[in-house]
Amino acid sequence: MSTSRLEGSRSIVGILAIQGGFEAHERVLHRLGAVTRQVRVPVDLEGIDALVLPGGESTVMTLGIEREGLGDPLRRLAHSGTPILGTCAGMIMLDRAHLGVLDVLAKRNAFGRQLHSFEAEFEVAGVPGGPVHTVFIRAPWIAEHGPEVEVLAEVDGHPVAVRQGAILALAFHPELTAEDRLHRFFLEQVAGFRVAE
Ligand code: GLN
Repeated sequence: MSTSRLEGSRSIVGILAIQGGFEAHERVLHRLGAVTRQVRVPVDLEGIDALVLPGGESTVMTLGIEREGLGDPLRRLAHSGTPILGTCAGMIMLDRAHLGVLDVLAKRNAFGRQLHSFEAEFEVAGVPGGPVHTVFIRAPWIAEHGPEVEVLAEVDGHPVAVRQGAILALAFHPELTAEDRLHRFFLEQVAGFRVAE
């Protein structure tokens, strides 16, 4: 619906574009009618209504965040209640050992080194329409989490989709499949945003 697109265009979704798979997220978000902004330096965070932290390599991403002085601005954004989606390395960035805004400890490359990547289908609590098709690439899982953290999906008994307040963290890559339900689920939290049909 054209009205949804117009309403959607008021919100800006930032995508951390220091390293990793930010362009694939951008494509899905554009399909859903979102206006996006690549975030590389703190000033890029000004005026955004939501933020995506993509997958990639968490060590390189951590160094980039430090180099650009993005750590404190990102923590402030999270504490302000702005919706944040972290996928794979982006989930690791949010954990206790990194930005410290999500009360979880992510275990890197948790599915074993031999398991470079795999696909799986499972239900994610709150996402309608049945099991989602997912892709895991050298994926982490959640090894520990605090009481505020809601587990939305598990694989082999390990949380791979969690939510705490306005933060959604996924161990897999929703931007690399034909699924857009997880991006929709995320965008539904963004004030004033109506996902394009
Ligand atoms: N294994 C990567 C890391 O630890 C994350 C993989 C990914 O984002 N696809 O940084």
